[in-house]
Amino acid sequence: MNAVDARYFDGRSSRAHAVRLSVDNGDLDIAGDDIARRAPVSEIRVSEPLAHAPRIVTFSDGAFCEVDDNAAFAQILAASGHSDSFVVAWQNQWRGAFVAVFALIAFLFIAYRWVLPVAAEYAAVRVPLAWEDRLGREATAFLEKRIFSTTQLSQEKRDALADRFDAIVPEDGRNYAIRFRASKIGPNALALPGGIIYVTDELVELAPDDDAVLGVLAHELGHIEQRHLMRRLFASAAVGAAVAVLFGDVSTVLAALPAILIDLDYSRAMEREADSYAVALLRAKGISTGSLATLFERMQKAHDKRGPKGDWPAYLSTHPPTPERVELFRKPAN
Ligand SMILES: [Zn+2]
Repeated sequence: MNAVDARYFDGRSSRAHAVRLSVDNGDLDIAGDDIARRAPVSEIRVSEPLAHAPRIVTFSDGAFCEVDDNAAFAQILAASGHSDSFVVAWQNQWRGAFVAVFALIAFLFIAYRWVLPVAAEYAAVRVPLAWEDRLGREATAFLEKRIFSTTQLSQEKRDALADRFDAIVPEDGRNYAIRFRASKIGPNALALPGGIIYVTDELVELAPDDDAVLGVLAHELGHIEQRHLMRRLFASAAVGAAVAVLFGDVSTVLAALPAILIDLDYSRAMEREADSYAVALLRAKGISTGSLATLFERMQKAHDKRGPKGDWPAYLSTHPPTPERVELFRKPAN
């Protein structure tokens, strides 16, 4: 019968007893000068094999053996039908390590690709209006400094448009307001969370009439009402936003704001949502939608003249193609 040398400890004193281990009839047999015990192999615990450490055989009462000769011990264990547990065998293979790393990466990818956007969307539509207001105000400070300058439009023109705007804003607790500004960004409009809408002088001058400007304002109201900017912002700053929601600190979200305003690209789906909102609102208020279509055509023409690499931001490029929008706004109400 094969046997292997080992040191036996009774689990109470640190004294080592020299013993021989062997397996007989499914029992582990320990024999030494002052030790003699047997235990079914199924009731002992064997530590996992490590290259430069003795294997530890532990008994149910806390006594244990240390075995230095790994190879010989593995042999008698194998002969006894004992096999290393699944986890131990698995941990000892590169394949196992690879699978674990792969699973971790897959988990992080899924979290990033699907869980975070959903969480961001969830948070964005639940942000209190007071937060929206604060975000909007932070954004105005940035925009006033970098993008806009004092309007050249007459006071009468601005008052007339503001009065008509007041008649179409929803009563939802936001403080809606228009800010007319000269700019470097061509005929453009920009809606901020909280209800402030910037309209450039160039847009007002390009519009065939006030109805067209009202149309643009209605489209921007759609962006605000459906919280498009909040959703874009939260998606971009999902991690920061999660922190903000948990700890009530919006500064991490604010940090992402300037970059998003400069490179504002709503999805086409959001633009279509804002367009549908505008059509419904204008019709409900008895405002013609046709002149907005004319304005879109003029904007497209002005944009084409400057070329796609003009210094106007992607206002037109991210919107649905002009013919599609013109058709939507020219379509008679049914
Ligand atoms: Zn838009």
